[in-house]
Amino acid sequence: MTTVRDEIQKETSTVEAMPANETETSLKTAGAWVQLNDIVKLYGSTPAVDGVSLDIPPGQFVTLLGASGSGKTTLLRIIAGFLDATSGQIVIDRKEISRVPVHKRHIGMVFQNYALFPHMTVEKNVAFPLARQKVPRRARKEMIAEALAAVHLTGYENRLPRELSGGQQQRVALARAIVARPRLLLMDEPLGALDRRLRESLQIEIRRLSRDLGLTVINVTHDQEEALTMSDRIALLADGKLVQYGTPEELYSNPSNEVAARFIGESNIFTGTVHGSPRGATLSTSAGQIILPDTASAELNGNEARIVVRPSAVTVVKASAAIDQSVCSMPGTLIANIFAGDSRKVVVDGDHGSELIVRMDASEPFGFEVGEPVVLTWKPSASLAMVA
Ligand code: ADP
Ligand code: MG
Repeated sequence: MTTVRDEIQKETSTVEAMPANETETSLKTAGAWVQLNDIVKLYGSTPAVDGVSLDIPPGQFVTLLGASGSGKTTLLRIIAGFLDATSGQIVIDRKEISRVPVHKRHIGMVFQNYALFPHMTVEKNVAFPLARQKVPRRARKEMIAEALAAVHLTGYENRLPRELSGGQQQRVALARAIVARPRLLLMDEPLGALDRRLRESLQIEIRRLSRDLGLTVINVTHDQEEALTMSDRIALLADGKLVQYGTPEELYSNPSNEVAARFIGESNIFTGTVHGSPRGATLSTSAGQIILPDTASAELNGNEARIVVRPSAVTVVKASAAIDQSVCSMPGTLIANIFAGDSRKVVVDGDHGSELIVRMDASEPFGFEVGEPVVLTWKPSASLAMVA
């Protein structure tokens, strides 16, 4: 049977102390440069990770984002060294580390379930990796104080985990992960067990901390908002494959395919065939002709294509309104008007059969009734076109 202690030893053993140096008292470090080359992990003949390559520059905060079962944890455990890849290389600071044991990888790790020793004080919990790494006792006190200060827990040294809130416990886990000054921090759904407000404040705090320390961070989440809030770059995974790797803005404004469009932000999606015309290209869909953005016409002409229209780009107008021929329009019936605090979500049953959504500022006046026929309009330039 595995005890809590075994679990924690396994987890904290990923943290290797930097050589204790009398003059070096700052936690600041140069982040690691992480390169993953074609990582594959097979279980039987089923790939859990299917040929993922990523280049993570020093000091970047990268989130592995994907639905449950997309391979995030498997990939993170391979980087940590808990799990061997079936094939592929992990290169950290130009060194291939597949053969380097877990405790020699200079990696800190934070898990969803804090994994603190329940019978040890905060100070002893944070000291644990230092003791394991045989950091001289003299140096420990200072390192612990710095780690606790970094997570705003100075003064909590003598508390037990049960005397702390969930958010404070996770900050202790974070202090323990950084106390030995790793250059790379891995986090697997670290905020998943916390309520929304706490999660949001810790997102900001962890981001600030990683910036201050200069750490490279690989964070795992299935929560797109968390990924958008925290990341320099997002690596979107689906079925073990890398779907797209880019900044939050790139993934939102230029999704590489339908999977990416559906995962990041809300979408209205139309599929059809592209036809050129003197006015520019259009997409023939079951919902009618949709004018395509100028930028999309050339390469897609004659092919099957998809467009994604973000709900915030769509406007609701009266069914009787005169509509400019240069905008996209789609008739339907308003079936829901949902007030969501800072935004309003409107759902329209399109006459062609599919449901469309509109997002608007909740402070804008909204003069439509549920059941009313309406027309949705948007500028062609607001459509994101991609190969079907
Ligand atoms: P995520 O963290 O994104 O939810 P995981 O990396 O945990 O996904 O799992 C990815 C896939 O690999 C899933 O289909 C999961 O069932 C499978 N998997 C994970 N671990 C094992 C294992 N030890 N044996 C067999 N299949 C596994
Ligand atoms: Mg997981």
